[in-house]
Amino acid sequence: MDFDPPAEHEILRDSVRRFFEEELPEPRIRELDRSRKIPRELWKRFAELGWMGLSVPEEFGGSSANVMTAAVLTEELAYRFPSLATDWLLVSMTARTLREHGSQGQKAELLPRLASGDFLMAFGMTEPSGGTDVLGLTTRAERDGDGWVVRGQKLFTSFADDADAILVLCRTDAVEGKRAGGLSLILTPRNQAGVEVRRLELMGMRAACTCEVFLDDARAPADAIVGQRGRGWYHLLSSLDEERILCAAMYVGITAAALDQALEYAKERTAFGRPIGSYQALQHPLADVATDLEQIRLLTEKAAWLQSNGRECAGEAAMAKLAATEAAIRATDRCMRVLAGHGLVEETPMERLFRDARLGPFSPISNEMVKNFLGERMGLPRSY
Ligand SMILES: Cc1cc2nc3c(=O)[nH]c(=O)nc-3n(C[C@H](O)[C@H](O)[C@H](O)COP(=O)(O)OP(=O)(O)OC[C@H]3O[C@@H](n4cnc5c(N)ncnc54)[C@H](O)[C@@H]3O)c2cc1C
Repeated sequence: MDFDPPAEHEILRDSVRRFFEEELPEPRIRELDRSRKIPRELWKRFAELGWMGLSVPEEFGGSSANVMTAAVLTEELAYRFPSLATDWLLVSMTARTLREHGSQGQKAELLPRLASGDFLMAFGMTEPSGGTDVLGLTTRAERDGDGWVVRGQKLFTSFADDADAILVLCRTDAVEGKRAGGLSLILTPRNQAGVEVRRLELMGMRAACTCEVFLDDARAPADAIVGQRGRGWYHLLSSLDEERILCAAMYVGITAAALDQALEYAKERTAFGRPIGSYQALQHPLADVATDLEQIRLLTEKAAWLQSNGRECAGEAAMAKLAATEAAIRATDRCMRVLAGHGLVEETPMERLFRDARLGPFSPISNEMVKNFLGERMGLPRSY
């Protein structure tokens, strides 16, 4: 077993840190968080840095990196700016869906544009009726003349307003007794009369620009279906595993950032003539956070390693997501207490980390549902 990170991971970490120092310092991050927006130029810059095409195959203009590398990028982005990591992980997981299930024509046309930052694709799965019971979705698409007509509503679709297209999971066929059957993925162009997008004002992950999407006779061309008609849910499964792994990496980044900020503060701040970090009451919770961080990093790396090596990883991806998101909640709470009043001030990144961490336990899948899934995998009866 080798616990030394590969040299290319260290190089990637360094380049992300340099990017933030030189091009996206903390005051600018705060500005973007307040404006609830990731500007398009930032995605173009990501493309120049090779990050938009990280998981796009080389033949389509990307660098064919695996999930372990994508997890390193996600963690480093989340360390500074979790909203940016949220959107980037969606870029990566939808690129997987396209490269695994897109037609040759779709791959040749869209993957190079994705890698160059010219094409942004959002992912619309969740509906107002609930993200947990996702197979109960009611958005439908039917053939009409030379294309598809999509009708329904999506909720919590990140960066839908800025996207060029939304990969919409919808029902195209009725399959008796099998809710997972009959669903398809339709790449629906964003800029058209049938698509209305409303930005949501969320407490956390503000700049991820999460939206409500109304699909009112939205049109998509006949070849907009990704993969086989009626097999959309099954096509998504490996992308959803990737999403959980990258989500875990994101909360590793948040936990690491909270710990570093609390440690720095605990060393500098004094009370009763001593650094507050010299009090055991502060050291013990920080030791707990450090231990959590080590555990969730190992779980995440293992899940990423499994998927990168083509192994089954659904259980490990779910566990990594569960552990990392709960650890980030504990970490941001404990570390916020170390900063006390200063942690609540909007000028400190801790305040943003605290808000952003709140998303983890219920997205992209709720931790209750993760436990249902893990219970079933251990041979217990399905609980839902
Ligand atoms: C910032 C943000 C970005 C997002 N981005 C996207 C995106 O880009 N695309 C997308 O498709 N979705 C996105 N989502 C949606 C996200 O995946 C859902 O919020 C998530 O799946 C939970 O769904 P829900 O919020 O509707 O909660 P619900 O499904 O309504 O669940 C409410 C509660 O009930 C519990 N519950 C429900 N059923 C059970 C059961 N059987 N057993 C135990 N507990 C149960 C849940 O665990 C939860 O605690 C995003 C959400 C947010 C907030």
